[in-house]
Amino acid sequence: MKEINSTEFESEVLQSGKVVLDFYSTECPPCEALASKYENLSLLYGKDVKFLKIFRQQNRDLAEKLGVNGSPTLLFFNNGKEVGERLVGGIKRIDIIRNLNNMLPEKRVKEIKNNVKPSVSEFDVIILGAGPGGLTAGLYLCQSKVNTVLIDIALPGGHVSTTHEVSNYPGFIEPQAGYMLSHNMSEQTKLCGTVYKVAVDITKVDLDKKEVLIDEYETVKAKKIIIATGTTPNLTGAPGERELKGKGISYCATCDAKYFDGKEVIVIGGGNSAVEESEYITRFASKLTIVHQFDKLTANKQAQEKVFKNPKINILFENEPRSFTREGDKMITEVENLKIKERRKLFSDGVFIFIGMKPNIDLFKDKLILDRWGYIKTDEDMRTNIPGVYAVGDVISKKYRQITTAVADGTIAAMTISKEMD
Ligand SMILES: Cc1cc2nc3c(=O)[nH]c(=O)nc-3n(C[C@H](O)[C@H](O)[C@H](O)COP(=O)(O)OP(=O)(O)OC[C@H]3O[C@@H](n4cnc5c(N)ncnc54)[C@H](O)[C@@H]3O)c2cc1C
Repeated sequence: MKEINSTEFESEVLQSGKVVLDFYSTECPPCEALASKYENLSLLYGKDVKFLKIFRQQNRDLAEKLGVNGSPTLLFFNNGKEVGERLVGGIKRIDIIRNLNNMLPEKRVKEIKNNVKPSVSEFDVIILGAGPGGLTAGLYLCQSKVNTVLIDIALPGGHVSTTHEVSNYPGFIEPQAGYMLSHNMSEQTKLCGTVYKVAVDITKVDLDKKEVLIDEYETVKAKKIIIATGTTPNLTGAPGERELKGKGISYCATCDAKYFDGKEVIVIGGGNSAVEESEYITRFASKLTIVHQFDKLTANKQAQEKVFKNPKINILFENEPRSFTREGDKMITEVENLKIKERRKLFSDGVFIFIGMKPNIDLFKDKLILDRWGYIKTDEDMRTNIPGVYAVGDVISKKYRQITTAVADGTIAAMTISKEMD
């Protein structure tokens, strides 16, 4: 692997055969997360592909000329021409491998695959998920000198890192940008000495053996496991939803309703959370329209009665969202009347989607006792039914899912474990 600067770009990249180039920056957590994967892959593929690094801050003109505006960015070149995908941010090993393999003959790819040596590392505790729950558990364990590894399929931070503003986390007078709060939590835990394996692919989790296989070759073993994998909101799937998440579309009333004082809001859904959260949002919003696919709400009767009595709430039954767009300050929700198959546009200041959350447990749910909504049941010390396996944060069965409650769960699990390990 070699470091180059912009004057060497012509000879080292454009006049070479197969090249992968990493534009990195300092003080860049995703660059740190990439560094060991890049180094490791350079040992595997180094005979066939030239692995180069270039410091983006000192080679800005070249970066701009190439349209590189995030760190890290990986570019692949074959005989002077850029090929494959541009990989940016939380880059996964399998994505790099896919692009490298595409540049090589099949036979060679097979040979390289056969050269991959399985590796094993051992810790006291594995934490799956580096959101507020996992990061807090990591901090407490690390401060108790328990050898801990945090494993996440994405970069650290969890939901908080994509939350626009957090104004209810104690200790900050002004609202905090979500990414800053999660960055600070993550750095605090990392500085203490917790090992991070992030933006990895988790191939297998064995809760009985306390083993996790990552990126298909690395086995991480421990004495105990904390599950802190959070939830994923169900999406409507309508075009524009992903792009406008956090930019007009929210999945959390407690977090965002206060930004809609005197404004008009659309709520998608008709179950208990949609109905109860609508009630809450009208403490702030002047008008709220619930868009629901059926001809009746599915929330319980008591919640329904409240909503029917609320003069600010209007319900559009038998309608489904078809697309979300934004024009200036206004959100446009295109809805279809399922009965007469007619579409129309609803203008509002914001959209809340409450069509359920899904706990992230697909990889390891088989032996865990879950509640009827699929969340992990724990005791008050965050123990699950499997000895040595704990669960914290949004993934567990509980009433309130907030940063503060996830942080509290993480604290409890870590303190329980460090006492048990004494
Ligand atoms: C849009 C939005 C805004 C919010 N705003 C606020 C707010 O203002 N204030 C507030 O208090 N709360 C807010 N919340 C709620 C808050 O974010 C959550 O309660 C909190 O993040 C839960 O923390 P957690 O650690 O349990 O899970 P998460 O934050 O969900 O983190 C889970 C982590 O696990 C990782 N993961 C998932 N699957 C796996 C796997 N198989 N293996 C390994 N890792 C995995 C994920 O990548 C993620 O990093 C908001 C939620 C949303 C969705």
